Amino acid sequence: MLAFQLYQLQQIDNTCDALRAEIQRLEGLLADQTALAEAEAALSAAKTRLHRAQQAWRAAEAEAEAVRQKLRRTEDALYSGRVRNPKELQDLQREAEALKRLLTQREDAELETMLAAEEAELALQQAEAHLAEQQHQRRQQTARWQGDLSEKQSALQAWEKRRQTLTASLPPETLQVYERLRQKRHGLAVSTVHESACDACGAPLTPQRLQAARSGDQLTFCATCGRILYVP
Ligand SMILES: [Zn+2]
Repeated sequence: MLAFQLYQLQQIDNTCDALRAEIQRLEGLLADQTALAEAEAALSAAKTRLHRAQQAWRAAEAEAEAVRQKLRRTEDALYSGRVRNPKELQDLQREAEALKRLLTQREDAELETMLAAEEAELALQQAEAHLAEQQHQRRQQTARWQGDLSEKQSALQAWEKRRQTLTASLPPETLQVYERLRQKRHGLAVSTVHESACDACGAPLTPQRLQAARSGDQLTFCATCGRILYVP
């Protein structure tokens, strides 16, 4: 039963194709480090942002402190009793008021930069947690994928051995016909027949062709798609 042997060969090849596709998918997953690299990049960006925010905060603190000291000196002069000239006192008074307004602005800026630094600190913690989570997930996935991969690889090896045994018993020219059809017909060289029609393309068979396919000793081809017919 040549048609039956080719049908078995087709089943084996279908299984091997599926295993190879799965192996390729798993190898792709194992090679893809995108999620981890993104989490690392996000963490590094968060560190830079925090560093800058802390610098801005320190600068705002220093600016506020400078104004505070200047105001202190002005008020000291104002209340020291050393300055008696009314014009000078008025000038000092005005300067103190201007400095108080400026100090309010500087303290607002200080508070704002402090809050921004706190936010950046929080974002950094989140980025660290996210990376740790990604690393944890990755370790688990890698273990699972590697397990699956070696399982599929040994299954493929076993099927390839079965294929060798089967093809060794087939006439080389028949095997050639099969291989050529597989290449031309998207991997499917053998089609089963149900209700007098080719399962692969759906075309009905003539009674003669159906009879020939049923006997199974010689290869019968579908008149429409050209595949080898097998009647189960
Ligand atoms: Zn067909």
